[in-house]
Amino acid sequence: MEEIRIETNGRLGPIDSSRVPRFSGAATFARLPRLDQVDRADVALVGVPFDAGVSYRPGARFGANHVREASRLLRPYNPAWDVSPFEELQVADAGDMAVNPFNINEAIETIQQNALDLTAGGTRLVTLGGDHTIALPLLRAASERAGEPVAMLHFDAHLDTWDTYFGAEYTHGTPFRRAVEEGILDTEAICHVGTRGPLYGKKDLEDDRRFGFGIVTSSDVYYQGVAEVVAKLRDRIGDRPLYISVDIDVLDPAHAPGTGTPEAGGMTSRELLEIIRGFRGMNLVGADVVEVAPAYDHAEITGVAASHVAYDLVTLLAANAADLQDTGGSARTAGHNDGGAPAGARAHGVVPGGSRKLHGDPLAGTALGAPEGR
Ligand code: MN
Ligand code: MN
Repeated sequence: MEEIRIETNGRLGPIDSSRVPRFSGAATFARLPRLDQVDRADVALVGVPFDAGVSYRPGARFGANHVREASRLLRPYNPAWDVSPFEELQVADAGDMAVNPFNINEAIETIQQNALDLTAGGTRLVTLGGDHTIALPLLRAASERAGEPVAMLHFDAHLDTWDTYFGAEYTHGTPFRRAVEEGILDTEAICHVGTRGPLYGKKDLEDDRRFGFGIVTSSDVYYQGVAEVVAKLRDRIGDRPLYISVDIDVLDPAHAPGTGTPEAGGMTSRELLEIIRGFRGMNLVGADVVEVAPAYDHAEITGVAASHVAYDLVTLLAANAADLQDTGGSARTAGHNDGGAPAGARAHGVVPGGSRKLHGDPLAGTALGAPEGR
């Protein structure tokens, strides 16, 4: 059947759901075109069906397609940002990476190479997992593209900075220790958000702090509230190139039952979305949403939550492009949420050292930074 799509600003948008029912046809993220249907993409959603790194419940290999199915109801205008992301940017679904399910090392190599290939023309990636192992090769690619170690906000119930499991270095519980060891993270600007649940021992936290991580616990989000948490995170990250990794288990199991290592006492989907909405103007260079395991999901609760998180991450990129255009490309931090980060805000308990340095924008002039053709 012929596809009937929305086209605005020369950008090929989603299938028009006023003319083709949402529940029909093959699923791409938000009914967007496939990457091979557009000349180039500013942002690509890409799936990584890989879960050979899990320590408990398997099944995240089916996560990306589950999120695509649950994303059918996403509409093209995001009122929380006053942005139509698919009009501001060409967004497309790049399909899935073909990764070896039996060889973790080879899978990691494949993911890294595919991420570099996909971003060669300035495209930014929002990756749908897969288990959290995939964040390591994605961070390698992101820091290579940025030309420097990247800042990271890591939303997760867990630290994922453990050393090994059963002697294995590359698992879904270890990617961020490996990333620190490899020097691909800016250790003055890395923070976990939503952490909770039992640990093996206090040493887990001591190691994690030694690597440079700050922690905003799930309890902190509850007691301090979204605005204060956003202000602290913005203060910690500044203008650095930022990678955001979202393990869907950061949400309470009531909001995301379909995941591999659930922990009680998590954030609500509303809290997570509102925190992301506070990041307008931050220099996002890439993101992932991982650990969706549909076999444990009910009524697409987890899939819907993950699809909305991915949608708001895409909208963050689109809002920055729109704000740059509005200001003639002069101000990346034109977002209205800057008010949430008062100058001199001191992040007690969040920022070891609390230092803040401003970086240049290594991606200025790439597809998202360039005003031409807008
Ligand atoms: Mn986790
Ligand atoms: Mn994780």
